[in-house]
Amino acid sequence: MSRFWSAVVKGLTPYVPGEQPRLANLVKLNTNENPYGPSPCVLAAIRAATDDSLRLYPDPSAAALKAAIAEYHGISPANVFVGNGSDEILAHAFLGLLKHAQPILFPDITYSFYPVYCRLYDVAFETIPLADDFSIRIAGYQRPNGGIIFPNPNAPTGRFLPLVQIERLLEANRDSVVVIDEAYVDFGGQSAIPLTTRHPNLLVVQTLSKSRSLAGLRVGFAVGHAELIEALERIKDSFNSYPLDRLAMAGAIAAFQDRDYFAQTCRAVIRSREWLVGEMQQLGFEIVPSTANFIFARHPWHDAEKSALALRRKGIVVRHFKLPRIEQFLRITVGTDEQCQVLVAALKEILATS
Ligand SMILES: *Cc1c(COP(=O)(O)O)cnc(C)c1O
Repeated sequence: MSRFWSAVVKGLTPYVPGEQPRLANLVKLNTNENPYGPSPCVLAAIRAATDDSLRLYPDPSAAALKAAIAEYHGISPANVFVGNGSDEILAHAFLGLLKHAQPILFPDITYSFYPVYCRLYDVAFETIPLADDFSIRIAGYQRPNGGIIFPNPNAPTGRFLPLVQIERLLEANRDSVVVIDEAYVDFGGQSAIPLTTRHPNLLVVQTLSKSRSLAGLRVGFAVGHAELIEALERIKDSFNSYPLDRLAMAGAIAAFQDRDYFAQTCRAVIRSREWLVGEMQQLGFEIVPSTANFIFARHPWHDAEKSALALRRKGIVVRHFKLPRIEQFLRITVGTDEQCQVLVAALKEILATS
């Protein structure tokens, strides 16, 4: 604490990202990155964009990227917003669409960045408990609110809420914005983007960090009614007019154009997830049904924090949250088949000796 800090800074509780260990050779299964690299077309596009033009500012409206996203999803570019990672878009949504007189609602177990944004922007919130099986019960969201936000599939549980339920939620909350954070939707979920044409209160946020293997490039986008998009644009242009640089835009456009690579890598992750789930169930783990690139697992007799430490000693990093209701769970990113095999072998040893 410093006397130079503003009252705002003194009151913050920043988000703590998963560790990015410097040690090489670790099996890194803690931050849900894609185990496969980006499409070769993405790398080529970034290389091609690496030239003299970097002395010029990028297009502040990101028109070419918006057009690529709109074409991919069969929508109009006027319904697309892009940001420096989806976290930035979420931040703008908290300030521009969710900050109202009533508290916003989100699940008690969810992406831990949401309460951080609430504190930063002074947005009141209430948490709605997930059911015992960690599913979202939409009945809990039928009360006065300033907005609703959750990931689908939810994080860190991996559980997917079917679109019929989202549509019911939208119909029951016509006077507030519902933000669906689809960071993991490409691993077996179904996107709510098609619902945005009939529901002017729906904002869908996606990222290229997970399913398109571009966490290092920092690109996310949102789809919604033009009025919602305009709110985000107004915040962006009051904060940073150039959130996406030239290389990020070139790479992101190529990522949407290479549909085959995207489909292939998503399928590979899903296949590895199914294998990993089966193996871990044989070891006695209980696993929340996942449509994400991670699984959320607990063992009835083995303490999760101890297991995470034991894995760490074997060079495998997974995520453990010391939080109510989930402190006995491990969140494990689905790696390559080889990484999954190393993980299962390590778990076998740990369970046998503890
Ligand atoms: C990873 C993640 C994000 C952030 O993605 P970036 O685009 O890398 O900022 C947003 N929401 C959830 C639920 C995530 O897991």
